[in-house]
Amino acid sequence: MTECDVCKIVNNKEAFHVIYEDEICFALLHESPAVPGHTMVIPKTHTTIIEELDDKIVEHLFVVCNKVSTILFDKLGAHGTNVIVNNGIDAGQDLPHVVINVLPRSENDGLDFEWTPKQSGQQVLESLQKKIQIYSDPIFLGKDELPDIKIQKPEQSITKTSSNNKIEKKENYQINNLKRLP
Ligand SMILES: [Zn+2]
Repeated sequence: MTECDVCKIVNNKEAFHVIYEDEICFALLHESPAVPGHTMVIPKTHTTIIEELDDKIVEHLFVVCNKVSTILFDKLGAHGTNVIVNNGIDAGQDLPHVVINVLPRSENDGLDFEWTPKQSGQQVLESLQKKIQIYSDPIFLGKDELPDIKIQKPEQSITKTSSNNKIEKKENYQINNLKRLP
């Protein structure tokens, strides 16, 4: 039923060079690698972008990527690794299924992921921070299953404000934050 090329691989793994598999995902060598040892870590569940995956699966995928990375360091003598997700067509994603690439790197391997840094004024940064931060609470604190991790608001955005009212707000925030901790 599926048209997805990656799901076809999932169903025909024997034809590929799989280096690891469990019930959630598998890792295989890229057939047209950027460098030798280029590995793809792929969730078995069909999902187009990583945001659609359950948090637990995302967590597991990155644990697997980390272990693959360790293997590439230890067994292929990599000097570094890149762990890359092209998430969405505009981000260079060319397959309709989540794939995490783990690339072993070495000096002069011919790969270049450099970009030209651009200037960003303080106003732009602050406005972006405000715009994004407003969604932090519902995204990070709105889920019961979130973890034993203490989430802290960046101090900067709170202390920079001027009125007493804001200081109260800061205290309230901390109290609210504590309430949310397990
Ligand atoms: Zn698929």
